[in-house]
Amino acid sequence: MDRRSFVKKGALGIAAASLVRPLMAGEANAETQHKPAEKTFVARFKPIMISTWSHGLEANKAGWEVLAKGGTSLDAVEAGARQTEADVSNRSVGIGGMPDKEGHVTLDACIMDWESNCGSVGYLEGIAHPISVARHIMENTPHVMLVGAGAKKYAMQHKFERIKTPIPEVKMAWKEWKKEQEAIAKKPVINHENHDTIGLLAMDSSGRISGACTTSGWAYKLPGRLGDSPIIGAGLFVDQEVGGAVATGLGESIIKIAGSHTVVELMRNGFTPEEACKEAVNRLIRKHKDMTGLQCGFIAINTEGKVGGYSVFNGFNYALRTEQEEQLVDAPFDRSW
Ligand code: ASP
Repeated sequence: MDRRSFVKKGALGIAAASLVRPLMAGEANAETQHKPAEKTFVARFKPIMISTWSHGLEANKAGWEVLAKGGTSLDAVEAGARQTEADVSNRSVGIGGMPDKEGHVTLDACIMDWESNCGSVGYLEGIAHPISVARHIMENTPHVMLVGAGAKKYAMQHKFERIKTPIPEVKMAWKEWKKEQEAIAKKPVINHENHDTIGLLAMDSSGRISGACTTSGWAYKLPGRLGDSPIIGAGLFVDQEVGGAVATGLGESIIKIAGSHTVVELMRNGFTPEEACKEAVNRLIRKHKDMTGLQCGFIAINTEGKVGGYSVFNGFNYALRTEQEEQLVDAPFDRSW
């Protein structure tokens, strides 16, 4: 997209936004006087699900079982996320996830639905399904986000399944890493191998969009670190007026541009999902002088069921599931490693 069409699309957004003005004192609020009938969702959309990376294929399978029976996109993304969280061979999500610098596996997750309800959990240790804790917080508390000891207490009070982490293989890898660190005293290394969050977006047969995101975060991170994944607007954002987006990669850089929210707002201004992901990646690149190991990728869906993705470096892919197809799509990228 050239600058001219970008400005044009931006101007359309501004024109639409300027129709909405704040109420003056004493002026009746039409919305409160005549509350519009609740939008009814009719089963006439073709369900679709996209999830980051190759582990997204299995996650989509789990989500598809929900969508194929006419279930909601919220149930679908939760089912997909739970599938990956339970996969012991996965080193970046759930039970098999990599630990922080001190050997603790701390998990982050968030979830958001078509009514902008959202829930999030961060720095949660020893609980099998952070995504379900995030959903429980969303549906049963006045809050959006619980972290650390409070989140764990909440999960235990509500009898969420517990797990013992790190699993033995991960513990061994951590011990090896620790030995190396002591030898060379370097900062945690960030590269495309230790970044693989799963982010999921689904549209159900009633057109309702939901998203979810779950990760163990940056391997060997500093204790207490949260990335983008539990942050609504950074790791995930859904607005039923427009669509949804999720992010994966170096959370610190995604937070800097409120990545997923940025993608959704770009779509609001007329960008296709892929154009929006690309523009967000470009923005992220502009904010960083040092691009070493800075891999980030976005995927997005709009209300027409169009999807797209884009990443900083090559190697990012996402799994796509529809009634007709099940495939891994290589996302376009800005540069090669
Ligand atoms: N975005 C995640 C984080 O920074 C990591 C990842 O995508 O692998 O915690």
